[in-house]
Amino acid sequence: MSWTPDLPIVSLKDVHKSFGDFEVLKGVSLDVMKGEVICIIGPSGSGKSTLIRCINALNDIQGGSITVEGQEVSDPKLDKLALRKKVGMVFQQYNLFPHKTALENVMMAPLKVLKEDPKTVEDRARSLIKKVRLEGKEDNYPGELSGGQQQRVAIARSLAMRPDVMLFDEVTAALDPETVKEVLVTIKDLAAEGMTCILVTHEMGFAREVADHIYFTDRGVIVEHGPPATFFAEAKDPRTKEFLSQIL
Ligand code: ADP
Ligand code: MG
Repeated sequence: MSWTPDLPIVSLKDVHKSFGDFEVLKGVSLDVMKGEVICIIGPSGSGKSTLIRCINALNDIQGGSITVEGQEVSDPKLDKLALRKKVGMVFQQYNLFPHKTALENVMMAPLKVLKEDPKTVEDRARSLIKKVRLEGKEDNYPGELSGGQQQRVAIARSLAMRPDVMLFDEVTAALDPETVKEVLVTIKDLAAEGMTCILVTHEMGFAREVADHIYFTDRGVIVEHGPPATFFAEAKDPRTKEFLSQIL
């Protein structure tokens, strides 16, 4: 069956994931519609990174189903490269190539992986650097940029593959407080343009303002979820309440 935009672009159904005997995800289900922003919050070790890494098949799953645009991610016939073009991912550690400029970092994957025309790739890379509000920094090396600027180059690099969905795993957690905001603004810009975003984040102000839906995970299950208004005002589960009381 072919996917249409009225169906979830990402869908997890009863996903189970173990590392050896240790079950990290114990039946996780969630649906994301095209253009939605989903925030996943929860204590450290609750399985948030594992969950989003399953979506682009960086982790395999032992039970349940994950589909992206209707395609089963665990299907052995699935082209993983095609999946990862469709689903971009940005991590806490941005890992830019230190000996390449910002522009070269953004151009690299489309040139090497997609083998696209260099001029087209460069034009698009320049416009992506503008999009993440780094115009003028094209020729700077990562070491000459702040953490927040480097993270925005990493976001531009991921966008250069023209993904349909973006995954962000605590992308501001390692940044100085003054550069956190500029990265969040970049993600907000993307969301406003209709990019589907799935974020693991502890930035509650951002989640409240930008998320369509918030999921709270604890020990491998989704304990509670809802749109920000109800999530923050009416959290019922004691684990959610305790977490929010510590973080807010
Ligand atoms: P979170 O992102 O919520 O902090 P993680 O998804 O990183 O949580 O980890 C959930 C649990 O799975 C942790 O107990 C962690 O130690 C374990 N874990 C994560 N990755 C691996 C791995 N590759 N091998 C074994 N255990 C892992
Ligand atoms: Mg994590």
